[in-house]
Amino acid sequence: MRRKLAAGNWKMNGGSAELAEIRELLKSSSTAQTDILICPPATLIERMRALVADAPLSIGGQDCHVAKSGAHTGDISAGMLADAGASHVIVGHSERRQDHGETDAIVRAKATASWGAGLIAVICIGETLDEREGGKTLDVIATQLDGSVPDEMAPETTVIAYEPVWAIGTGLTPTLEQIGEVHDFIRSELGKKFAERADGVRLLYGGSVKPSNAAEIFGVSNVDGALVGGASLKASDFSGIIAAL
Ligand code: PEP
Repeated sequence: MRRKLAAGNWKMNGGSAELAEIRELLKSSSTAQTDILICPPATLIERMRALVADAPLSIGGQDCHVAKSGAHTGDISAGMLADAGASHVIVGHSERRQDHGETDAIVRAKATASWGAGLIAVICIGETLDEREGGKTLDVIATQLDGSVPDEMAPETTVIAYEPVWAIGTGLTPTLEQIGEVHDFIRSELGKKFAERADGVRLLYGGSVKPSNAAEIFGVSNVDGALVGGASLKASDFSGIIAAL
């Protein structure tokens, strides 16, 4: 049985003042039956970790470098994230793929680096609007899965987030049928490659999830939770999504 996961990606948002949202979230989510993960900017990981103390709320990074250390100005390694108190890291978010030219091979190396540091990798995949409209969605998903998920994948340390690029931050969402089609496809592709290991991997949907659409999305087959951007910034919104899981 896969435990549901509500994961929030704060992106490049939030400073000390926004830690108040975590205090608020801790109050409203103390009885949640699901796993909760917040991925703040790296500058907040340590303080957020201290704030959540023993509460069942995990903290993650939003990206990591493939190397353990070295001359990579501005980058952060998976080991550094772990050292700061992170237990998870997002790799291959479409904003990294688009803005930083990250290929499937790089994302794969980042997932391996995450595991090497003892982190759970949240590996993101998803098609662009052109690819969706060109009928290429499942081909793109198959290619990204094959290229981005290392052969050593273990379900305990891997989460896959399906995030259609055109649904991120746009207010647009695929139909429930479209979400179900892709999630079922991901499960079956993983099954071909990883056999029974595929069953335990949690598959998150991401792209304009909000309290008002969360319940119907979570009702779709093979949706084990959500990766949430904008609506994870306010505790009131994110707790509404957690409650829908
Ligand atoms: C995201 O950035 O992963 C995301 C899903 O963003 P939003 O929820 O704002 O669409």
